[in-house]
Amino acid sequence: MVIPLLLLLCGPLGGLLGGTAFAISDELLLSRLQVQVVEHRFDNGLRLVVQTDRRAPLVAMHLQTAAGASWDVGGPGWSEAAGMAHLVEHLLYAGSERTPHGSYDGLLAAAGAETNAWTEHHAMALTALVPVEALDLLLELEADRMAGLSAPAVAARLDLERQVVAQERGIEREGPGGLDSLALRTLSFAPGHPERHSVLGSQAELERVSAEDVLAFHAAAFAPSSCVLVLVGDLDPALAIESVGRTLGAVPSRAGWEGPATGPEAVRPAAATHYDDIGGTTLYASWPLPPAQHPSAAAAHLLADLLGQQDQGVLGQARRRGRIERHSAWVELTPGGGRLLVQLRSRKGEAERLRRLLDRAVAELHEQPLPPERLSAVTARWRSWAARVGQDPQDQAETLARCAVETAEPTCFADHVGRHLEVPEAEIQAAARAVLDPQERVLLVVLAPGQGARSLDGAPRLDPSELR
Ligand SMILES: [Zn+2]
Repeated sequence: MVIPLLLLLCGPLGGLLGGTAFAISDELLLSRLQVQVVEHRFDNGLRLVVQTDRRAPLVAMHLQTAAGASWDVGGPGWSEAAGMAHLVEHLLYAGSERTPHGSYDGLLAAAGAETNAWTEHHAMALTALVPVEALDLLLELEADRMAGLSAPAVAARLDLERQVVAQERGIEREGPGGLDSLALRTLSFAPGHPERHSVLGSQAELERVSAEDVLAFHAAAFAPSSCVLVLVGDLDPALAIESVGRTLGAVPSRAGWEGPATGPEAVRPAAATHYDDIGGTTLYASWPLPPAQHPSAAAAHLLADLLGQQDQGVLGQARRRGRIERHSAWVELTPGGGRLLVQLRSRKGEAERLRRLLDRAVAELHEQPLPPERLSAVTARWRSWAARVGQDPQDQAETLARCAVETAEPTCFADHVGRHLEVPEAEIQAAARAVLDPQERVLLVVLAPGQGARSLDGAPRLDPSELR
């Protein structure tokens, strides 16, 4: 299973509030996000984070490794194959020496547990929601597969899982716009960059993956020291540390891997055209973002919220007047900073008109003072988003794990939200000038073939064989 690059640590997928009048409620909101956790590191290097939440007799588990599709470029014991991390995720269910194929799912389903797994470029996660009495069973099964997969079991399942991945790739890519994000990725990163390929990868490359490659990847990715385990639910932290100590905390330590060097920077400035049967024209723009720790990162992230506003600003007004069919803006965060992306879509095939509109929207942020109501509309959405966080123990476990991995501080979330609520208007303009720089921008035009629509000048066709 694959989910798109999560926007989790960057805010709501999107009135007139005065700063001081709401300071108290912001304080309350942020203090509610500042949850109590107990942390423990086991001798094998595994980090554990526990939060007690007694609302239901359940425990949410989130086991995250720093390994992801960026490791597909090759590492100690395996060679490059786009899609390897995700294939390894599938083969985590192949079975170990002690647990034959099918037992993991069968035993946990019989105990009333729900389980899942996902892979991104910089993370892979195993998740579960279990009745509290099934926690020990879950931890035993996770410890068993963390300790090692069985080579014969992996070899026996490898071809089958390759076919399952081929089906997943077909589903992901077949619909309109199914290749857009991959085309944009291919354009934004230089050849050899560990984020240039898709998580699902290339079938031709996956055909070359052997059981030995899978075992080597798994050994490094799920070395206890590469993992953070988060438990949220109806449990006592001291008892949880004991239970984990008997299971995952007792897996012998082994060498992990630091992951690939970041590789060459994005190819830029660049523009390209990609053809897809979408019945209109789409323009994407992408800019690199500063690292999350950078003082201007929060202001930079708010630029996406502002550009995505549906009824304010140049783009919101153009949409209201029917000059564009729709638009959106979002951020994709990575350890190096990530990217800010904007999408504009029109039924009429005029790529140059969309570019002029985008240029005007950027110029507005560069040159004009930000109307206070635009900023307060954005922060109001952050508040309502933050107010919902923590309601679901599985979301909460994921939030704690991402914070633990990305900032070493599992409860970074309250600070993170707080920084986005207190950005002064003047900083937005400075961030717009620093981030929304035409020299750093990548543009992708997606056109329906055979409709006579024109792309941008100087935007050659993207070679489809490069998409992997
Ligand atoms: Zn999958």
